[in-house]
Amino acid sequence: MEWIIAGGGIHGCTIATYLIKAKGIPASQICIIDPHSAPLEKWKELTSRIAMPFLRSPSVHHCDIHPFSLHYFDDGGSEAFYGKYRRPGLDFFNRHSESIFSNIGLQERWMQGRIKGITKSGSHWVVETDSESVEGKNLVLATGMNERLSIPEWAEELRESRPTQVGHIFQEKLPMITPDIAVVGGGITAAHLVIKLAREHPGRVVQISRHPYRVHDFDSDPGWLGPKNLRGFQTLSSYKKRRQAILNARHRGSVTSELRHRLRRLEDRGAYRFIEDEVEGSGVEGSTLSLSLKRSRWDGETLLLATGYSPKIMETEWVRELVRKEGLICAQCGFPIVNEHLQWCDHLYVSGPLAELEIGPVARNIAGARKAAERIIGSM
Ligand SMILES: Cc1cc2nc3c(=O)[nH]c(=O)nc-3n(C[C@H](O)[C@H](O)[C@H](O)COP(=O)(O)OP(=O)(O)OC[C@H]3O[C@@H](n4cnc5c(N)ncnc54)[C@H](O)[C@@H]3O)c2cc1C
Repeated sequence: MEWIIAGGGIHGCTIATYLIKAKGIPASQICIIDPHSAPLEKWKELTSRIAMPFLRSPSVHHCDIHPFSLHYFDDGGSEAFYGKYRRPGLDFFNRHSESIFSNIGLQERWMQGRIKGITKSGSHWVVETDSESVEGKNLVLATGMNERLSIPEWAEELRESRPTQVGHIFQEKLPMITPDIAVVGGGITAAHLVIKLAREHPGRVVQISRHPYRVHDFDSDPGWLGPKNLRGFQTLSSYKKRRQAILNARHRGSVTSELRHRLRRLEDRGAYRFIEDEVEGSGVEGSTLSLSLKRSRWDGETLLLATGYSPKIMETEWVRELVRKEGLICAQCGFPIVNEHLQWCDHLYVSGPLAELEIGPVARNIAGARKAAERIIGSM
């Protein structure tokens, strides 16, 4: 095999698309490894759980090689773009992705499994999953956040003792959702989820956030997509400064202005309540969960954490082992130091959060997948 791609999300599948369509690599020379059964399955599952109607990113951010591919896509079904940035409807974006992947036969290149270990054998990488192994010359790590959720300390015990009532919205199996419901978190995932739940259970939903809504249309300034901000970033030789620049640039826990309006209307109608407060402790009595907040208290049946992913993705066992065995270089923040083609060492490439110190604040997004794909094929 010429190329093994670890992870079949937006990043892995975009890179495969670029290799095939922009570089003419035969699809038969590519293998994508992912625990799910089809391309983008996880993305589809998570975005449908929160009933996200439109993407946050504009229509030029998608999985195909031509920037206007989504703009001109017509499969006879309904097309939908929202607002001045022409943000695509989720269903439209997914149909476009499916059409590209089916044209290049990505499904046939699929190996279902979860990577447990990677070793080098001569000039080849050997990637082992829970049930089989595959060898390849080039390897791309595109496993996103490595499935590591961010769980607040106070919620850990509660989540373990009451799995049918308490859970993270991105975990594999969700709790049963019965009112009254609390959603913990103040970002865009929490916002979508609150809108969905407030419609299904009006008046029986609260959102608990440590901060008021932070309104930003994008999760970082669009200047980070091009030379305006990236030129300065790439001249920083200190990776500590690069990490700081990324942290400063990201509008963490923010919502778009249109979502803010929709939330305001729902709140005015009493469909949900926003509580700006911090959780200090939790308890259970029968089927009732309770949260002690600094200034108030909540009692109810279901607690959903919309607290995102953990930054500790480099602590994943198989990644640590790979770093150790191959002597790979990481910055002080623990993330890979890679070259301009996102090579961590010969024939080993990274994408997504692992490419952050090279691509900058948009590395995790769809724009980051396109940038990573361009950099990787630029090395050939
Ligand atoms: C709800 C939501 C909405 C978003 N909306 C936008 C948006 O509008 N615009 C935008 O630009 N960005 C958006 N993002 C951010 C980002 O674009 C997406 O998270 C995107 O899906 C990231 O793609 P990925 O391929 O890196 O990660 P993922 O989609 O997580 O894919 C990684 C894949 O790797 C697999 N994997 C993990 N570990 C292993 C392993 N050990 N072995 C094999 N496979 C493994 C995972 O199961 C998964 O299938 C959004 C994110 C979320 C969560």
